[in-house]
Amino acid sequence: MSDKDETVLSNEHTPLFANESGPIKEVHAFWLAGMSCDGCSIAAVGAKNPSVEQLIHQQIPGLPKIILHHPVLAVEAGHRFMEPYYKAVRGELGATYVVLYEGSVADEDIAKETGGYFSAMGAQFLTDEDGELLGDGSWRPYPTADMLKELAPGAAAVIAVGTCAAWGGVPAAIGNVTNAMGVMDFLGKDFRSALGLPVVNVPGCSPIGDNITETITAVLMFLAGVGPLPEFDELGRPAWMFNETVHRGCPRAGFYEEGTFAEEYGQQECLVELGCWGPVVQCNIARRGSLGHNGGCMNVGGICIGCTMPGFPDAFAPFYKAPPGKFISGTASRIVGSFIRPLRQISQRKGNMTNRWLKTESIPSGWGHVEAPGVVMKTIHYFYKKIQTSGSPFHPSGTKQQQKLQLKSRAVMAAGVKRSEERAMETAKAEELL
Ligand code: SF4
Ligand code: SF4
Repeated sequence: MSDKDETVLSNEHTPLFANESGPIKEVHAFWLAGMSCDGCSIAAVGAKNPSVEQLIHQQIPGLPKIILHHPVLAVEAGHRFMEPYYKAVRGELGATYVVLYEGSVADEDIAKETGGYFSAMGAQFLTDEDGELLGDGSWRPYPTADMLKELAPGAAAVIAVGTCAAWGGVPAAIGNVTNAMGVMDFLGKDFRSALGLPVVNVPGCSPIGDNITETITAVLMFLAGVGPLPEFDELGRPAWMFNETVHRGCPRAGFYEEGTFAEEYGQQECLVELGCWGPVVQCNIARRGSLGHNGGCMNVGGICIGCTMPGFPDAFAPFYKAPPGKFISGTASRIVGSFIRPLRQISQRKGNMTNRWLKTESIPSGWGHVEAPGVVMKTIHYFYKKIQTSGSPFHPSGTKQQQKLQLKSRAVMAAGVKRSEERAMETAKAEELL
């Protein structure tokens, strides 16, 4: 790791804002779209924790006010909308800004060879004296890749939103003709933002909206000097979101462990045999849900196709075909599960009985017949309980000390009852004598 890296990845790195100008109050957020479907924008505006509204209305204590410039959400259009972008490119904005890039970055040199462009916004002549007037009288559009190159070095942070921006995604799949790539590839290994951060990556196709807004919040709080450096993994992903596999948080993981698998969609069991890659994919959607803690892939019956991963889509294609590894891990789960499942059913039966039902051997449910445990089951439960309590001071009828205390308290209570009865008798006798 170079000295530069150590400076960046240490919590001792104090943002310049905090050192020189005091905490920042306002941050411009420039949203740029490369080769994207706008799905990441839709995911971001659906975020709830925090929501875009909370961010732009400064409703989070300590968070600077965010002035969002977004081509789809903006009220302004045309030159009025583009002017802040141009100012930032010219270095005339006079304010702190971050860049949020959605979609992959196409190789615009390829498009320029034929006089075209892949992804553009605004007109280049406003920042480039060599701007080109086209045959129809309009100015050559400003490729967002070029704008990214201009804006990134002056940005407090560059955040790649979604898998296309982070790793290249679908536009960079094998066979693509645009030489599309992620922001990190485009800016290079040595890129650092004005405040020393490499590119931050929030992958997902589309990412969870809350993952986007939470990352923006965490980064801005750090840059404003009011929060610690968020933990990122070696690929610049927020570590607290992407450290674990989706499988570990999947509501169907218990079925996998017991070796029971869905054979068709709509069944409740583990989906690995239908093509789920969850056991190896780093994603938090099963825990966090897709929108407002609802939905999200296997929560609603869908398999994982690895959309957060750098290898997506090629590494996980063909979709809907079981991953090769499932033959080993799935078979092992089946074998282990065939022992574990019946044992669990036995202890589950015990957990479904009250002490009273065990004693009376009758379960008075009006909803259906529940068989009382027979001799075999009772014997199993007896030994099970022995093992359960061995080595522990706990005993169903109390520890020795508890039993002693109980005897003592019973004796005290009995003496108290006796004494109060005697007093009642004495009172009654005294009243008779009167
Ligand atoms: S559905 Fe996928 S993520 Fe869930 S338990 Fe099965 S393999 Fe794992
Ligand atoms: S579970 Fe898989 S397919 Fe679903 S969002 Fe996560 S990585 Fe993408």
